Amino acid sequence: MTTRPPTTRLTTTRPGFIRANSVSRALAAVVDRWTLLILAAAFQGTKRFDGWRNGIGISSNILTSRLERLVKLGCLQKAVVSDGKRRQEYRLTPMGADLYPTALMFWRFDRLWSHRRAMQPTTLTHATCGAWMTPVLVCANCRAPVRARDVRYEDGPGAGLERMPSPRSSRRIAASPDEGAKLHLLAGESIDHFGDRWTQQVLSTFFLGARRFDDIRIQCSVATNILADRLKLLVEHGTLQRRACAADPRHHEYVLTPKGMDLYPIILTLMKWGDRWLAGKSGPPLILSCARCSHVLDAVVVCDHCGGRLDPHDVSFRRG
Ligand SMILES: [Zn+2]
Ligand SMILES: [Zn+2]
Repeated sequence: MTTRPPTTRLTTTRPGFIRANSVSRALAAVVDRWTLLILAAAFQGTKRFDGWRNGIGISSNILTSRLERLVKLGCLQKAVVSDGKRRQEYRLTPMGADLYPTALMFWRFDRLWSHRRAMQPTTLTHATCGAWMTPVLVCANCRAPVRARDVRYEDGPGAGLERMPSPRSSRRIAASPDEGAKLHLLAGESIDHFGDRWTQQVLSTFFLGARRFDDIRIQCSVATNILADRLKLLVEHGTLQRRACAADPRHHEYVLTPKGMDLYPIILTLMKWGDRWLAGKSGPPLILSCARCSHVLDAVVVCDHCGGRLDPHDVSFRRG
């Protein structure tokens, strides 16, 4: 059974407002290039200021501001350790550690699709089974890989309109190929799709069923010229395809390519994280169910070799 468009009641018509969703909240909270690189390094054991600065080539002032924000948000916790001299460390909190599935889904996308990845190939080993593996997002109930077309949506208790998350950056910035090159986890182009808030918003509407220019414009509460620019960019990236509308060939519509579809696991892990940590008392804005087994969807990231759930302590990254 297919699920487009989702069975949600609300359409946005208020300028500056979007339909409440955990993806937008999560994207606004943690998804910018530097924050992702900081988190990726943290999952590989980085705890100290110098470790990040030397490891990902970030300037001290940007690192300071991003670490402070992650502490304020509740993803990192400061601790003082003394091993001869007193040093400050930043440790992942349960909220921060819960972004690990998202980090793995970024890695997976780059592994599968990024051309830059070829310059910095990494392998991922699962200690539990000893295999080189690719992490995969599956339904916890029926264990089928989660694909966008197999997911149903309905309004949850937190459904409604909310103000568009305030942007930290609404500019789009091209990635430099060297950025993150010292890092094993995130060196590809996945972050290009999430690097500015409009590209993020536009992309997430596709996974909620939007196809036509005007529908996307209304759902994202975005200006026409900005939307045209982002759609063009996503077509150039090979993420979207522009084609004549099936129902009315005088109009055009945009559909996700197979590459675009592969961003879905990133979106879904972010949604799950946002539901858990940012939805507050009102609860999740959307309830998802698996069309294959009809259970409420609990999407989990597992090893494609043994099917075991993945934990940072059991996964090692190696270049080459
Ligand atoms: Zn299922
Ligand atoms: Zn395994």
